[in-house]
Amino acid sequence: MSPDVPEQADAVTAHVKLSGEDWELETSLSVPAGPIRLRTMLPLVQSFADAVIGAAAEAAESQGRRISCKKGCGACCRQLVPISEVEARHIAALVEALPEPRRSQVRARFAEARRRLAEAGLLETLRHRQEWGKGESRSVGEAYFQQGIPCPFLEEESCSIHPDRPIACREYLVTSPAENCAKPSADTVDCVKLPMRLWPALALFDAVKPEERCIRWVPLILALEWVAEQPEEPAPRPGPELLRRFFDHLTAQKSL
Ligand code: SF4
Repeated sequence: MSPDVPEQADAVTAHVKLSGEDWELETSLSVPAGPIRLRTMLPLVQSFADAVIGAAAEAAESQGRRISCKKGCGACCRQLVPISEVEARHIAALVEALPEPRRSQVRARFAEARRRLAEAGLLETLRHRQEWGKGESRSVGEAYFQQGIPCPFLEEESCSIHPDRPIACREYLVTSPAENCAKPSADTVDCVKLPMRLWPALALFDAVKPEERCIRWVPLILALEWVAEQPEEPAPRPGPELLRRFFDHLTAQKSL
């Protein structure tokens, strides 16, 4: 990856070249030169993620591996979805902006999911995720999936916030039969291999100690309660600084 960030008076454009074993991607990202919030940069990061994931998917298909994810298949939407704090704020703002009665319906689904998690003894575990030990994310993820709790945005087995869905959702693309996702395991589900994970690069903005590369994340299902407890958004920073840090986080993937 070679981000080249020339500075201009009121905007900065990064020209990015990425290459994998069998694909290449060249694209540009522009941000305001002045202070912005990370949330302002989120649509740009989402488009970049789509471009990277799209290139990897095209390469998989050119090798005869057909992507089986499609509208109407929401098997993966019962998984524990990790999102960055900035995405949690975006999700909460999306719900807040919904017209009534839809807003109340979606909030009620979040509340129902929390109720079911509490019943299964998983709610407090998820709330205290920073205390998890090694390997616990896998076991909690499996226990979560067994509950079959649909994402509050899943409607008729399709994502009702598709253009705004979290980056972790975009990254989940499989080439194995769709029915295998109902009982996912490393042996039955073939995911498209990505050159990098993009959502942790966003989560690293909120690392308590960036030098320890310890990311903070929010379960999508707890996004509304997390934002209600942390209403203060991080201060705006110059757009070029945010963009550079994003690419720094991406290139530091191996240490995550
Ligand atoms: S946000 Fe959309 S894609 Fe992601 S889990 Fe929910 S319904 Fe599925």
